[in-house]
Amino acid sequence: MSAMHINSNRMLFVLNLPIIGLYIQIGREYFKWVVIVREIGNWKREASKPIGKLKANNYIKILPSSQRVTVLVVGGGVSGLSTVETLLSNGTDDVLLLEATCRLGGRVQTIRRDGVLVEAGAEWIHGGPRNPVYKIADSLVALGENVPDEQYEWLLVTENGEVRDEHNLISYVGQNSSDDSSDDEEMSNWDLMQELWGETEANGVLAPYYDTAGYGQYFVDRFPEVFGDFANSTEGKALLHALEQIVNGEEGTNDWLDISARDADAYVSYGEDHQWKDGYETLITHILDKIPSSKIQLASPVSEVYWDQNSLDGVLVVTSNGRSFLAQHVVFTTSVAYLKKHHQNIFSPPLPNAYIKALEVNCI
Ligand SMILES: Cc1cc2nc3c(=O)[nH]c(=O)nc-3n(C[C@H](O)[C@H](O)[C@H](O)COP(=O)(O)OP(=O)(O)OC[C@H]3O[C@@H](n4cnc5c(N)ncnc54)[C@H](O)[C@@H]3O)c2cc1C
Repeated sequence: MSAMHINSNRMLFVLNLPIIGLYIQIGREYFKWVVIVREIGNWKREASKPIGKLKANNYIKILPSSQRVTVLVVGGGVSGLSTVETLLSNGTDDVLLLEATCRLGGRVQTIRRDGVLVEAGAEWIHGGPRNPVYKIADSLVALGENVPDEQYEWLLVTENGEVRDEHNLISYVGQNSSDDSSDDEEMSNWDLMQELWGETEANGVLAPYYDTAGYGQYFVDRFPEVFGDFANSTEGKALLHALEQIVNGEEGTNDWLDISARDADAYVSYGEDHQWKDGYETLITHILDKIPSSKIQLASPVSEVYWDQNSLDGVLVVTSNGRSFLAQHVVFTTSVAYLKKHHQNIFSPPLPNAYIKALEVNCI
């Protein structure tokens, strides 16, 4: 079994089980024997941790009706679809993708309503030509026109949809900075806050926080220095809270103090971000153009994966709607968050310890 990281928030598992000649000769008898051994092993393991719902006896019932396939890909987001496309274009034709929902794209979803396009998931192509997604968008002449920062209009909107900024969080100009240089006086609180956010890109400022405090602590410490007395006002606290929400949103965290300052400093920017002219879904459509529909099954949530290298002549994958597949290789492309929550119930035997440790780590 091997694992490969595609990027920071995607993980590719390749479960690989070689067929061993001796076992094939013994055939079904061997299989029954393995089942008994597994059953004993399972009883032992069940004492400490549940290993799955499928009882060992059921293997024999399930296996003959299992669909055999060389590579089974679990998950129909960009990772799963790209895996199928790559396999097909490299000559592996016996491949099948199982997607839990009735929609492909996963965390890429472009919604169009009343002529307005909204990205419910990914929106930005981060950086330029060094990003492979940029290259695809460019080759499809599908890159949107970039809007300069100053053309963005920031509004504070209440839950009722009213545009209000009575506390001058965004519009206030000439804040109570401890630094009273004329440049600062021309900046709104919002501009100042963005400038503070940008400070961490300067080399070295986060170094004192390595291994001692989280990334967010830098902002907590600097905020009173930048905003002076205003930092202690209700509005100032609200502004710091807004910054915390923005950083957490950007980093995908619940608490900015959990973000490693060292890793935040290691982040390399690939330059200006770009958007898709007609939505991120263009990427999904582009990949799907190269995959025959027979290679994809929707509404197929995988619930159990049996990959015991000593028992089965393949990886047995079961869906919660009762279908089963015997694959030589399984590529698991669900999100890390999904794996964190469900790996204990899905994989039997459990994933190797190193994987579990990586999944169960609590900070970024
Ligand atoms: C709100 C938001 C904004 C983002 N903004 C950006 C951005 O601007 N730029 C950027 O580059 N990235 C962005 N991302 C990240 C980007 O969307 C993801 O990195 C990428 O889409 C992940 O693709 P994936 O195929 O690895 O996973 P996913 O898209 O999560 O696909 C996994 C698929 O597996 C399926 N699945 C789950 N469990 C099972 C199961 N048991 N059986 C079968 N199928 C299953 C899911 O339904 C899903 O379709 C954003 C993400 C979000 C949520």
